[in-house]
Amino acid sequence: MGANNSCAYLVGQRFGRLVVLEHVDRNSGGNHIWSCRCDCGNETRVSTGCLQRGKVQSCGCLRIERSAAANKAKAKHGMHKTRLYSIWHGMKQRCHYKKHDRYDDYGGRKTGRCPAGIYVCEAWQQFLGFKEWALANGYADGLTIDRIDVDGEYSPNNCRWATRSEQEKNKWRNRIRDRDPQEQAERDRARWEREIEEQDKAA
Ligand SMILES: [Zn+2]
Repeated sequence: MGANNSCAYLVGQRFGRLVVLEHVDRNSGGNHIWSCRCDCGNETRVSTGCLQRGKVQSCGCLRIERSAAANKAKAKHGMHKTRLYSIWHGMKQRCHYKKHDRYDDYGGRKTGRCPAGIYVCEAWQQFLGFKEWALANGYADGLTIDRIDVDGEYSPNNCRWATRSEQEKNKWRNRIRDRDPQEQAERDRARWEREIEEQDKAA
């Protein structure tokens, strides 16, 4: 048997878009190199290893098509990596991604209004829904999303765009309204003392 015969074992086989035409050579590593025709019409040379491991499945047209498709998908919502997109992404992460470092203050925080934790409403699960609301409700660079009731969910009913200082004020108002346990205890004690005083007067 001649060298050509012993090296014909892949001829005619298909690997992805490539069909092996003929054995060409061995490369420096001793691998066989094959001339292949791609479904798109181009010819290319590929080693046995790359063919058999599926590392090369076209002349290169497959990768070009895939990245074009990926770019198209990104262009579809047109906002990838924009500020609004990161706001949306951050909001969802805080509420739904348990490993997020703020999860305990959002998704993991149960409130009267959100007994299962602060959540993002159905309409905002997809970026497009959120973007539509944002643009129709005064979103601008420099504004942040502000929950009117900090114990409430992220939804059109409970959110607005605010400057950072407006947002701080709102948080403060909410904090005063709710009190932390220490403040609550002090307020309760003050109330009992007043009640005791009243009773003393009445006695
Ligand atoms: Zn091709």
